Amino acid sequence: MTDTSRVTVLLVDDQLIIVEAIRRMLAGQPDIDFHYLTDASKALDAALELQPTVILQDLVVPGTDGFKVIRSYREEERLRHVPVIVLSAGEDAKLKAHGFAVGANDYLVKLPDQVELLARLRYHSAGYISRLERDDAFRRLRESQEQLERANEELHKLAALDGLTGIANRRRFDETIRTEWQRAQRNKKPLSLLMCDVDFFKKYNDGLGHQAGDLCLKKVAGALTGCLKRPADLAARYGGEEFVLVLPDTGIDGAMKLAESCRANVERLQLEHPAGGVVTLSIGVASAVPDNHNAMEALVERADKALYASKQAGRNRVSEAGEG
Ligand code: GH3
Ligand code: MG
Ligand code: MG
Repeated sequence: MTDTSRVTVLLVDDQLIIVEAIRRMLAGQPDIDFHYLTDASKALDAALELQPTVILQDLVVPGTDGFKVIRSYREEERLRHVPVIVLSAGEDAKLKAHGFAVGANDYLVKLPDQVELLARLRYHSAGYISRLERDDAFRRLRESQEQLERANEELHKLAALDGLTGIANRRRFDETIRTEWQRAQRNKKPLSLLMCDVDFFKKYNDGLGHQAGDLCLKKVAGALTGCLKRPADLAARYGGEEFVLVLPDTGIDGAMKLAESCRANVERLQLEHPAGGVVTLSIGVASAVPDNHNAMEALVERADKALYASKQAGRNRVSEAGEG
């Protein structure tokens, strides 16, 4: 809306003599655009087309009645709140009340005084325009709030991802293990952890360069993610060439099986290692049913120890952690 003080009037009255009288009253008012219609059956379409800021509606119109016409405005989304001033021949209180009941906003008896007519038209029109502006401001506010929420969600997702491999990062792992630990404790279910470390990765970097090393980490990350079966399972980069898998509601047997398929998946990548053979993965597996006597940190520590055992035993293997 460009000009907030403009009044666009639509008069619906079948009597040309009334139209002419109103037209004269509004003539010479630079802020008022006057439109009229003598055929009430076309009032709805005309109003939709014109989008008046106020409607002057005659009650006695041939072929239909003014109340029906007012109802039809109210049922139309784009006209629902346009102010309607009823123009009537009589002073009948019941008619007035009925007019308001079907959605009219004001009532004038024909022919109204010019000063009063102008005042009412300007008053209703200004109120309507403020309403449109307020609705528009709310809509824009809602839109920008939604945009902000979407941006925040996106940011939150990005903040949880590892920049190199695109899988969950350490922060996301820390959050997940905490919530899954609590959930497992509530549900008295086991929670398992796989600690994975690429074997002889320093030599891989030294032999093929850091960029090849980066690519290798991406492929390993992909191979690990490919092993996950349940939506609640999580694969994360723990740091450097170390990865961790969180497996809620999974006991040691299931976790050992999954670890073996992770190990095999990485071997199957057939990434040639400069020191001979292919890139392999060592894994330590720990599982616990959380209770008041064990701690989440102990689970991580046990998985770490099991990983160390895999390294000591010759690498490219899976080891089960001892009891905590
Ligand atoms: P081990 O079999 O005992 O695990 O030997 P390793 O060489 O894999 O272990 P070490 O901890 O000695 O070396 C890890 C190497 O991983 C050292 C570091 O250069 C490399 N590394 C860590 N993060 C990245 C990375 O983001 N990109 C690349 N290219 N290399 C990384
Ligand atoms: Mg390491
Ligand atoms: Mg390593």
